[in-house]
Amino acid sequence: MRARAAVASDLEALRLDVAGCTACTLCADRQRTVFADGDGSAGVLFVGWAPGSLEEEQGKPFLGRSGKLLTDIIEKGMGLPRSKVMITNVHKCRPAEDRDPTAAEAHICSPWLERQIELSGARVVVPLGERAAGHLLRRPNTPLESLRGQVHRVGGYKVIATYDPALLLEDPSKKRACWADIQRAMAELGLGPPGQRSPK
Ligand code: SF4
Repeated sequence: MRARAAVASDLEALRLDVAGCTACTLCADRQRTVFADGDGSAGVLFVGWAPGSLEEEQGKPFLGRSGKLLTDIIEKGMGLPRSKVMITNVHKCRPAEDRDPTAAEAHICSPWLERQIELSGARVVVPLGERAAGHLLRRPNTPLESLRGQVHRVGGYKVIATYDPALLLEDPSKKRACWADIQRAMAELGLGPPGQRSPK
């Protein structure tokens, strides 16, 4: 897998390779792979855990209510068009019946994400939620609160963990802390001192 991912010379080649991937059991029930949304030219890549049914249906990550909230964070909060960031998931296939993917499945799929980060040229990677953050920082099963609130250096990019938008919809009291994480990411991207209003 790692060798297959490494030979992809651009994101389109990688997307096509992912579309044909049968490396783990998640391929058995999928309708289609969900590779990414946005071109990543702003230098930031958001990473969730796994696509859901709407995402699989449309082939794009983060749709529906949580996708709308993520769009607000990016556009109203960061002042960036959603099309200029890249949004993806650790897993490129939807788990059947939305079960939680196993650690083995995350491990098998990770070379695709690692190559995607490289090819996107992301300077800042923002994992959305505890499982994505634990995976990217190689600290699975670590509480999100131990991972967020700081800038982690991983290879040639920085990782700034924050909440899954789905959790923010359930618990809006976490939005303030999420906004602090996003401000940290903005500073790393050179977007200037945050002056914008926190997205509602
Ligand atoms: S989840 Fe990842 S490793 Fe598994 S089949 Fe899909 S693309 Fe391949």
